[in-house]
Amino acid sequence: MQPTRNWNFTPRSFAQATAPDFVLNARAVFAWPGRRLWHGFLGRHGGVSRGPYESLNFSYLAGDSVADVHENWRRLQACFPPATEFVLVHQVHGNRVHVVDAQSRGVTAIADGMVTAQRGVILGVLTADCVPVLLFDEQAQVVGALHAGWRGVLAGIAAEGVKAMTALGANPARIEAALGPAIGACCFEVGIDVADRFTTELVDAQRHVLPAGQTKAFIDLKGVLRDQLVRAALAPIAITDVPICTRCSNARFFSRRAAGGGATGLQLSFIGLPPQN
Ligand SMILES: [Zn+2]
Repeated sequence: MQPTRNWNFTPRSFAQATAPDFVLNARAVFAWPGRRLWHGFLGRHGGVSRGPYESLNFSYLAGDSVADVHENWRRLQACFPPATEFVLVHQVHGNRVHVVDAQSRGVTAIADGMVTAQRGVILGVLTADCVPVLLFDEQAQVVGALHAGWRGVLAGIAAEGVKAMTALGANPARIEAALGPAIGACCFEVGIDVADRFTTELVDAQRHVLPAGQTKAFIDLKGVLRDQLVRAALAPIAITDVPICTRCSNARFFSRRAAGGGATGLQLSFIGLPPQN
């Protein structure tokens, strides 16, 4: 697979990319290296969790040892200034986008997206096959993070995310998007009922659905997301894809499908505006 425009897959420490005090020995993927922005798609290496959670699991709800998850978070937080606030949402595969502002800081909302213009706040989404989407309007200094599984894609989480960014002053024509490691069309096999929903409920999604026999189909979830972002007025060239399939690359990323219904950890994708100075 060929990297797309401005995608840099050189594994390197977060320190070299953005923050000089990042000491976590994790490997992250950066869509926008060298920009004044905290962001990254973390993989599964660099933490202390064991077994199916090995090793950088950030979810307290996946059955992992609380102490291990706590240590993983502690290591990450130690890489940022002490006042840095991490915001996650309770993800439910819907299309709600939580606005993180001075009033709502510290609130855990039920949503699948977050946007903010606040500095020193890091928005994080947890995934293990679903698509993590990071959004950035550099001029407006507004960021967003979305959790986009197939239900969220059908529900229009991408458009809702862009709408919420716009409400904070972003301009869709300027918004850059990065689609992180997620299950690829190579591995995302679904039943015909799910495939039918894509072809009937979404405009032009048919070309991203590949029938496999009478009862199954493969869906290119990122292809659908890309179309949705373009329909929301993003420039096609501003959408970066990290072409890694989590299931194919299960040694490096958590994948629910690869776990075959068993336990698995969740990896963190994050974005935030560093304090000004
Ligand atoms: Zn695959």
